[in-house]
Amino acid sequence: MTAQRIDGNALSLQLRADVAQRTAALKANGITPGLAVILVGENPASQVYVRNKVKACRDSGLHSVLEQYPDTMSEVELLSRVEALNNDPSIHGILVQLPLPAHIDAQKVIEAISPVKDVDGFHIASAGALMTGMPGFWPCTPYGCMKMLESIGYDLKGKHAVVIGRSNIVGKPMAMMLLQKNATVTICHSATQNLKAMTLQADVIVAAVGKRKVLTADMVKPGAVVLDVGMNRNEEGKLCGDVDFAGVEQVAGYITPVPGGVGPMTITMLLVNTLEAAERSAACTLIQK
Ligand code: NAP
Repeated sequence: MTAQRIDGNALSLQLRADVAQRTAALKANGITPGLAVILVGENPASQVYVRNKVKACRDSGLHSVLEQYPDTMSEVELLSRVEALNNDPSIHGILVQLPLPAHIDAQKVIEAISPVKDVDGFHIASAGALMTGMPGFWPCTPYGCMKMLESIGYDLKGKHAVVIGRSNIVGKPMAMMLLQKNATVTICHSATQNLKAMTLQADVIVAAVGKRKVLTADMVKPGAVVLDVGMNRNEEGKLCGDVDFAGVEQVAGYITPVPGGVGPMTITMLLVNTLEAAERSAACTLIQK
């Protein structure tokens, strides 16, 4: 068996077309969805990420501003910029690119973002909303994974999903989203004993570790759906995931490639969240009128 690939680029194009259409509809009512991205310091990877995010916004008709500051910026100064953006009606989503310089408390900065503009979904209010099934913003990477499952018409009800990794930005919210769709969820991490025994039971596996070949063909049940969140470099310096793609592709039913899988979906879901923030704000304005 050769697994069917879930193409994150193709799915992103479809979703971005929908974003562009809904954005045009909002604009016709005088509202342009706006995203503010703050970058502190000169981390080269972060610079690429923020540029891609800002460009993706502009390509879909959203307004976006990039604020870049030197790594000497103080925590107080950054908190004051976040506060200003919280109060700026042209901005519906605020994203502070991580990591921040060591002298700035990243959690404090995230908690300073208004939950109604928390389009990264990292605020404790967003995490609580996801946990309790209330409306809020879902973190973009696991949200993108859910869209990929939806795109293949996969019904999670009663299925066993194994998430490898338990970070606050990927693993834990991923597990909550799968649970919300009635999967039985197992979360694995660095202290899990016998990872293979867990993954062999899984109908769906999400690998979000950051280590190459964490998941190999002998660890996968035939026909399982495998979503690879990992971003690593191989010996030749090429981008690769956590999954041994060549081997697992022969066993799985569906698989996401790296690159071209979960990666493009992450930025797309940021656009979706920003648009949703603007739509919610527009709905509130209409109610108030
Ligand atoms: P992270 O915060 O470093 O978390 C990694 C998780 O993997 C931890 O929970 C860790 O367990 C677990 N782990 C480490 N070694 C393990 C092992 N041998 N077996 C099982 N679990 C193990 O990383 P992250 O931020 O979640 O990101 C994970 C990967 O996804 C990275 O490669 C990152 O670059 C990538 N990523 C990609 C996107 C995208 O858009 N495609 C977005 C975000 C992240 P402990 O908790 O016990 O330490």
